[in-house]
Amino acid sequence: MHYGILHELFPSAKANEPLKRYTAWKIGGPADVLLEPRGAEELIEAVETARENGVPVTILGGGTNVLVLDGGIRGLTIRLARSLTNVEIEGTGVVADAGVLYPALANATAAKGLEGIEFATGIPGTVGGAVYMNAGAYGGETREVLDWADVYKPEGTDGGGEVVRMANTDLGFRYRGSVLHERPGWIVLRAGYTLVPGDAEELKARIKGFRKQRMTGSPNKPSCGSTFKRPENDYPGRIIEAAGLKGTRIGQLEISPEHANYFVNHGGGTARDALKLIELAKETVCEKLGVELELEVRVLGEP
Ligand SMILES: Cc1cc2nc3c(=O)[nH]c(=O)nc-3n(C[C@H](O)[C@H](O)[C@H](O)COP(=O)(O)OP(=O)(O)OC[C@H]3O[C@@H](n4cnc5c(N)ncnc54)[C@H](O)[C@@H]3O)c2cc1C
Repeated sequence: MHYGILHELFPSAKANEPLKRYTAWKIGGPADVLLEPRGAEELIEAVETARENGVPVTILGGGTNVLVLDGGIRGLTIRLARSLTNVEIEGTGVVADAGVLYPALANATAAKGLEGIEFATGIPGTVGGAVYMNAGAYGGETREVLDWADVYKPEGTDGGGEVVRMANTDLGFRYRGSVLHERPGWIVLRAGYTLVPGDAEELKARIKGFRKQRMTGSPNKPSCGSTFKRPENDYPGRIIEAAGLKGTRIGQLEISPEHANYFVNHGGGTARDALKLIELAKETVCEKLGVELELEVRVLGEP
């Protein structure tokens, strides 16, 4: 669809916006148009307009678990990090908008003496992305603390253009996944948690400990975090290292010598090279060790 038409439909969106600016990997071609809505209402309105005009919609949270291909994303891309960022805490109940950064939520709840989301300090994405991925770290997982999520189900996506409060048990949580993987049109708007009273100073110290662990254990270069999911009873980092792949480089992309499940971008890396390195790792690991690695990172857009 022509930019002029998209601009008319979504006047506050940025046209032809390079998405590498919005992804942790610093990779990704342009969005035809990128919208950072001011609130849930604007988001729903834009999605409705897109649906009525046959414009495809893609949601980005913090862009920390996506590989956006070099051709970019057609239609409307909506970025929620920095857009929907309200947090309400009442007693042990917490309601966080989809764009709230997970580490910020960990800090906010710990400061109020509420225990349960400290693990989120290691996860750089948003609340919405964490629901989508059932994100977890340090032995904790989103599904263990989340009560519900408000999900917008546009018409024609197994929903009737409504916001539905979905209970934890209806969200199909599994290791690094949820029912949202099977429902590409659904959008998480906010999430509710019930936490446990704790000691604020102890919780802050726990967060500090987790952060320290992260700073020593993972590379300090752009990446998507873990490239592959954990196979049963093993770690992709250990397996990729055992296959002799640490330090393997294609273009500006390298299998980190520090942690082999992190594929780091040395600057100006492309999705094409990232995919080549991913394929090489999968093939080599399968040939040498008989293990089928499965991608954790979500691939979006066009080559
Ligand atoms: C350095 C680093 C360390 C990491 N460490 C961890 C870790 O310890 N544990 C872990 O689990 N993950 C980790 N990750 C991966 C990532 O942070 C998580 O998967 C995170 O939950 C992704 O959230 P996001 O907002 O960035 O989602 P994005 O990357 O923007 O999107 C991921 C997927 O979710 C969808 N999505 C995002 N928001 C919504 C929404 N509101 N509604 C519907 N769909 C949505 C997108 O369409 C996309 O398919 C790490 C990443 C990095 C870069």
